[in-house]
Amino acid sequence: MIHVLDTRHLGRRGIIAVTLLETDEGLVLFDTGPESTFETVVAQLPERGFSVQDVRHVFLSHIHFDHAGAAWRFAELGATIYVHPRGAPHLIDPTKLVASATRLYGDKMKLLWGTIAAIAPERVRVLQDNDVVRSAPFEIRAIATPGHAGHHHVYHWNDNVFGGDVAGVRLGSGPPAPPLVPPELDIEAWRESIAKIRALNPAKLYLPHFGLVAGDITAHLNALEERVIRWSIWFRARIRAGDDEQKMTPAFADYVADELRALGATDSEVADYEHADPSFMAVSASIRYWRKHHPEEVELPAPTHSDTS
Ligand SMILES: [Zn+2]
Repeated sequence: MIHVLDTRHLGRRGIIAVTLLETDEGLVLFDTGPESTFETVVAQLPERGFSVQDVRHVFLSHIHFDHAGAAWRFAELGATIYVHPRGAPHLIDPTKLVASATRLYGDKMKLLWGTIAAIAPERVRVLQDNDVVRSAPFEIRAIATPGHAGHHHVYHWNDNVFGGDVAGVRLGSGPPAPPLVPPELDIEAWRESIAKIRALNPAKLYLPHFGLVAGDITAHLNALEERVIRWSIWFRARIRAGDDEQKMTPAFADYVADELRALGATDSEVADYEHADPSFMAVSASIRYWRKHHPEEVELPAPTHSDTS
């Protein structure tokens, strides 16, 4: 049995989920939500017949605070935390992570994410691509899926996939949107990761933002990939046109909002997407991606004086 718990982050429903799987060996969580919502999540366990001590295994898609912020709380209660090799050092010593997030969120850190603390190394288990963890009767496989972040895993068991952020943000009745965030956005890797999920042909796909994907999963993945490509190309055009970050941020927010509204989203749903997937982050992520991975496509070629024809 799989449960989707709502962290009700900042009082908003349907934005950040914690996915819970019942096994013979206790509860498995896929992502924890931020630390600021730990108590809200824990309070939902008794009504389902569980206690927080039943949580034995915590599988992290990646270490961004809205996914992994509360991992240390579960670890303190005895859970094992599973994570990509490049995520593990930051769970054990979050100093750098906190510093870089503070540059992004400033004095809103505590309000947004709560308290961040180190996890004891013996509670952290590194998973390589294709590693399997058994929690009877399930075998849960980690699949390396970079794109949104370099250190991202999705998890596969039976015909289910927990898709993390690389599988898109899909809120309410809205379409799948790719959360483009710095500093590791990689469009080519993202498309390969979508192909990996497609190849698993899952019957059910669970998203941290938010919950079980209703309807056809192939259609979801196709629509997601189409936006990964088109949105990245929108940014390339803006960079080529010489727009700066300040100009691009409201323009991209409008571009996304118009698209969502054209697909039937209400103003409140548009605001929810912005909350889950802020446009300012997409702008800095995309500028960095293009300059780093394809500088020749966003910089004007140097004038060639030999060209006299
Ligand atoms: Zn993320």
